[in-house]
Amino acid sequence: MRIFLYFILGLFATVVFLPLSIVISWNALHPEKPLTFNEPRLNTSYKLIQEGRAVAEKNDKISPATDGKNYKDLEINVYVVQTGKLEKMPLEQYVRGVVAAEMPANFNTEALKAQAVASRTYAASKMKIFGGNGDGEHPGADVCTDSHHCQAWASEAELRSKWGKDYNMYMDKVSKAVQDTTGQVLAYEDKLIQPVFHAISGGKTESAEDAWGKNVPYLVSVDSPYEEGAPKYKTQIVMTKIEFVRRLKTLRPDAKVDASNLSSQIKVLEYSHTDRIKKIKIGDQVLTGEELRNVYDLNSTNVKFTFTDNNVVMDVTGYGHGVGMSQFGAEGMAEHGSSYEDILKHYYKNTAIISLSELHKNQ
Ligand SMILES: [Zn+2]
Repeated sequence: MRIFLYFILGLFATVVFLPLSIVISWNALHPEKPLTFNEPRLNTSYKLIQEGRAVAEKNDKISPATDGKNYKDLEINVYVVQTGKLEKMPLEQYVRGVVAAEMPANFNTEALKAQAVASRTYAASKMKIFGGNGDGEHPGADVCTDSHHCQAWASEAELRSKWGKDYNMYMDKVSKAVQDTTGQVLAYEDKLIQPVFHAISGGKTESAEDAWGKNVPYLVSVDSPYEEGAPKYKTQIVMTKIEFVRRLKTLRPDAKVDASNLSSQIKVLEYSHTDRIKKIKIGDQVLTGEELRNVYDLNSTNVKFTFTDNNVVMDVTGYGHGVGMSQFGAEGMAEHGSSYEDILKHYYKNTAIISLSELHKNQ
């Protein structure tokens, strides 16, 4: 009877905690957002924060606020997928929950600040008040907390359980990174940018053109040094040839491919400028890099194949789509003395940090 009880308890623990730990590690290491390209055009002139410093430059085109609009009162409608509820909260409070969920809190403060500006920019780009179209999936929401649709966000209760005894230390650190960049967002020409980011580029970021077939002037390929120490910088998947073919058939049921002779039937047809796979032929099927990544659960599309008698070996470099800011690259730059402005200008080319609070005043 007692053994049976242990068995039930063990089963319960596995069912509850295993998926929970997968979700938590997934959010930490798989921070990707779809690129929607609905960059809203800013409908008032904005003032640059010159040289990346949060110094309010006098801009004659901006008239002083006359209606008492206070940026601190600016709220965002968030659909919280964890509870299934729509919540209205101050924008800066939302940004704090995003930074805490999207980036490890033990990262350098400058990396956390870069994440804060990128995440605030994404949120603002969705808000109708700044010309955005809202969440799209959840009526009434500007954004949701699904990291695959918008960006991850964690409530204070979730952070308490995630951080445990370090809660106060990490909360202070993340709060300060958000406060020190209050209201700062990224713009290219007169639009808020789509500040896509990923965990690890593998040494070079991918251009939006190569990844998604759309030229975005600020999402070009740049070097991303200092990532080598990141967990999962390189990963290896070893799979039997039979399993490799079985997985292909989940995507392409009619695929003609011979498991016994795989090495001659796998041919990369097109690489991106950074050696990521854009098109690959397996048997008689042509897959995009993204399809390859999804069907074999690969961390990125930077894959090298080798073969043994029974197995296919896939050596993968990097984690994520590789476009925009690399989070581990940001951490590396910060550890080597770069400021958050340096980091943002490195990964988002020719963008400027502008003041959302000034924009808000003038809406
Ligand atoms: Zn969403």
